[in-house]
Amino acid sequence: MPELPEVETIARTLAPAVIGRTIAGIELIYRPLLRTGSRRRLDALTGSRLLSVRRRGKMLLISCEGGRALVFHLKMTGQFLFAKSSEPRDKHIRLIIRFDDGRNELRFRDVRKFGFLLCLAGEPESACAELGGLGPEPLEMGLAEFAAILKAHRGRIKSILLDQRRIAGIGNIYADEMLFDARIHPQTPASSLRTPAVDRLYGSMRQILTLAIAGKGSTLRDYRDAEGNEGSFQESHKVYGRTGEPCATCGTPIRMKRIGGRSSHYCPRCQRQKTRRA
Ligand SMILES: [Zn+2]
Repeated sequence: MPELPEVETIARTLAPAVIGRTIAGIELIYRPLLRTGSRRRLDALTGSRLLSVRRRGKMLLISCEGGRALVFHLKMTGQFLFAKSSEPRDKHIRLIIRFDDGRNELRFRDVRKFGFLLCLAGEPESACAELGGLGPEPLEMGLAEFAAILKAHRGRIKSILLDQRRIAGIGNIYADEMLFDARIHPQTPASSLRTPAVDRLYGSMRQILTLAIAGKGSTLRDYRDAEGNEGSFQESHKVYGRTGEPCATCGTPIRMKRIGGRSSHYCPRCQRQKTRRA
């Protein structure tokens, strides 16, 4: 699933292609894609200009004239493609935004069909619970705020990092990578982490996400940016998807374990679980 670095990359590649363009029509090919907002509200966007493209958590927000916004969640396999209208469309295209130049269009492609679209009137954050309920952005929050979130939760650190209501945008890949970088076992209770470990994890979170954005995200299967390019950060993964391979630091085989229903990759030696003191 595209996480913060992938959706950020999509927003950055999409913005220069579409901002300032005027919508000539929206073709909703797969009706269930539109989860919030009516077909009529979608049609009413015809004639309005696209004003901005930005990311919040793992969602992509396109603001339009007239205080309307389109919010996409890419879920498993959602992709955007800015294409020439003359290019052939494949059967996985779920929505097309046509522009008034008649030559280009924005296509939303989604093989698995888990992605969804919200068509909102008004400020997106207040107009929908999916956005309003998100936790802070990991690259915008300070160490004190991060420490307070961890201190308040007795759940496992891996689960807290994945919980979008606590911190927005982190998914399975980057949670595993930042925990390895900070040498913290994924099952450690968040509230039990001591100050040095919290400081390390905060630094690792910022560093991993920043490097992943610079590498234009990680492509494991489906992810492409809006120009159709793959990311490169998968080459820098130290633990994610590397089960059985030697740890880059100590050579111990990377282990995989289900934690909270999600696969967690970690080095059993570098990320030792601290035994609880009596
Ligand atoms: Zn190791």
